[in-house]
Amino acid sequence: MVVSVSVRLPRDYVVYSFSSRHVPKFRAYPGDVVVFETVDALGGQVVDESTPLETIDWSRVNPATGPLYVEGAKPGDTLIVEVESIRIADRAVIVAVPGSGALHDRKFNAAARVMEIRGGKILFRGIEVEPRPMIGVIGVAPEEGEYPTSTSGYHGGNMDVALITQGSRVYLPVFVEGALLAIGDLHAVQADGELCVAAAEVSGEVTVKLSLIKGKRPRYPVVEYGDRYSVIAFGKDLGEAVYRASEEAVAVLMRSLGLSFEDAYMLASLVVDLRINQVVDPMKGVRAEIPKRYAKLEHLLVPAP
Ligand code: CA
Repeated sequence: MVVSVSVRLPRDYVVYSFSSRHVPKFRAYPGDVVVFETVDALGGQVVDESTPLETIDWSRVNPATGPLYVEGAKPGDTLIVEVESIRIADRAVIVAVPGSGALHDRKFNAAARVMEIRGGKILFRGIEVEPRPMIGVIGVAPEEGEYPTSTSGYHGGNMDVALITQGSRVYLPVFVEGALLAIGDLHAVQADGELCVAAAEVSGEVTVKLSLIKGKRPRYPVVEYGDRYSVIAFGKDLGEAVYRASEEAVAVLMRSLGLSFEDAYMLASLVVDLRINQVVDPMKGVRAEIPKRYAKLEHLLVPAP
C-alpha cells in the first residue's frame, strides 16, 4: 500500500521548548500522515570522537521538530500519534558526561563514541548491538508555561520511552488549540534506564499518522504497544514517579473492572509491571504497563476538568 504523506516538517524547523507561545508554520488534519525530519539530540554537533564536549553549544541540544498544528484539536481531547516508521541515519553517537547519569558521582573523563550502523547492526567499538529505533522526545504544548525539550511532564516531552517505536501509538493529552505537536531525539537503540545519560543519538525521520479522540484525555501520556497500555509517569526522583504510575494504574483498574481501591491495589500487584524509562533526565520516568485484558483504552481516558 502506498501511503501518501500530507505534510513533511523539515529538520531545521525546530523548537527547544514546548509552549503555546510557539507559532506553528505547519498544519495537518486528523487522518493525515506526517513526516518529521529530525536532528540528533546533540544538535549534530558531535561530528567525531575527538569533538571536545566542552565546545558543545548546550542551547542547541535536544531540538524537537515542530510545532505542528493539528486541525480540530481542542483542550480536553486526546491526540493519537501512531508511529508508522522510523528511519535512521547510518551513524549514531553517544557521550559520557562527567557529573551526569546514574553514576554521576564517579570520576571519569568526558567521552564520545561514534557508532556505524551497517548490515542491520550498530557497532559500538566492534561490539554488535541490535538496533531498535525509538523516539525520545514527543509532546504537545502544556497547559501553561514553557517546558524545555530536555524535560518531561503531563505534556510528554523528553520521556525516553524505549517502547515508542514502530507500531506503537502515543496518546497525548491536548491542552491548547491545535495541540502543537513536536517530535525529536531519535535513538537507534536505548535500554530502559538510559543509565549513562545518552543513547545511540541519531538523526532520521519519523512517519506518523494522526487522529483525535474528542472530549476525553489521559491523565499522563499513554503508550500502546503490543498487548499493553503503558502509563508514562514522571517525578523529581524515581520514588515520586513510581507513586504516580502506581496511583494511575490502580485508578484505571478501578474504572475498568468496577473494583474497590483495595481490590484494584492488590490486582495491580499481580498484573501491572512497573518499569523504568530513564533515570537520567530532569524528571525521572517510570511506566505502569497494564495488559489490555484488564483495561480498555476508554478506561485510561477521563473527561477534562
Ligand atoms: Ca532524550
